Amino acid sequence: MTEHALPHFADLAELQAPPAWRAVEFISDLHLQASQLRTFDAWNEYMASCSADALFILGDLFEVWIGDDVLDQPSSVNPFVAECAAVIRAAAQRLPVFFMHGNRDFLAGDGLMRKTGMTLLADPTVLTLAGTRWLLTHGDALCISDTKYMQFRAMVRNPQWQREFLAKPLAERIAIGRATRAQSEENKRAGAGTDYGEVDDALAAQWLAAADAPTMIHGHTHKPREHDLGAGRKRVVLTDWDLEATPPRREVLRLSASGAQRIAIA
Ligand code: MN
Repeated sequence: MTEHALPHFADLAELQAPPAWRAVEFISDLHLQASQLRTFDAWNEYMASCSADALFILGDLFEVWIGDDVLDQPSSVNPFVAECAAVIRAAAQRLPVFFMHGNRDFLAGDGLMRKTGMTLLADPTVLTLAGTRWLLTHGDALCISDTKYMQFRAMVRNPQWQREFLAKPLAERIAIGRATRAQSEENKRAGAGTDYGEVDDALAAQWLAAADAPTMIHGHTHKPREHDLGAGRKRVVLTDWDLEATPPRREVLRLSASGAQRIAIA
C-alpha cells in the first residue's frame, strides 16, 4: 500500500444533507467540449430540468480546464466556456450544485465556483442522506495499478505545479489545452482512449471502512456498474456522457431514502 493512495481520513470532508432533501442526483464525466455539441445540448436540457433537491457533479465536467481566468475574458474569447458557466449558474439558482474535481478539470477553482454558484467538494467527501453515509469520489485516486498516471496525478495536484502552470500566459495555456484535446482525440481514433484504468477494489473497500460508509459513488472509469466489495460494501460507478456514441450515453444516478437508482435521460 503506497501512502499517497490513502486520503487523510482524520479530516475527511463531511456533508450532512438537510432534512428537507428527499432526492439528490449525480453526474460525472460529461467531458464538455465545443466540438461535441450534442452532449452539451443534452446536459443543458438536463441542467434546466433537474428536479432533485441537490445536484452533485463528480468530476470531469469539462474535457479540459486551463484556469478560471478564461471566465474573466470577453465571452467571445471562449464562448463555449461562457455558455457552460451560464448553464450552471441558472441551475445553481434553483438548487444547490456541488462540484468535485476530476482528472481533467482539477484546475477549476474559486473563480469558477463564484461565477457559477457551485460549491467545491473535497475528494473524497462523505454525504449523509436520510441517515445513510455515501462516500463520493471522482475515482482516479483509486486507480493505483496505473503507476504512470499516479505519478502524473501527484505532479499536477501539487500546489506549486498548479501555481506555476496558472502563471503561464492564458494564450499558452489555451494552446496546451488544445494539444491535450487533440491528443485525446488521437487516442480515441487509435482505440487507446477508452481505458481509464480500473479502481482497486481492495483500496476502495479500505476507504469505505475508514469512512464508515457502505457504498461509494464514483465516476472516472466510464464503466457504469455496481461492484460488490464484500462485507456489505459496494461501489456504484456513474456513466460518462457521449451523445455521439452508439448508443448514446447519458444517465443520472438518483439517490433517495430508498437507495440509488439509475435514470435514463431521454
Ligand atoms: Mn476522469
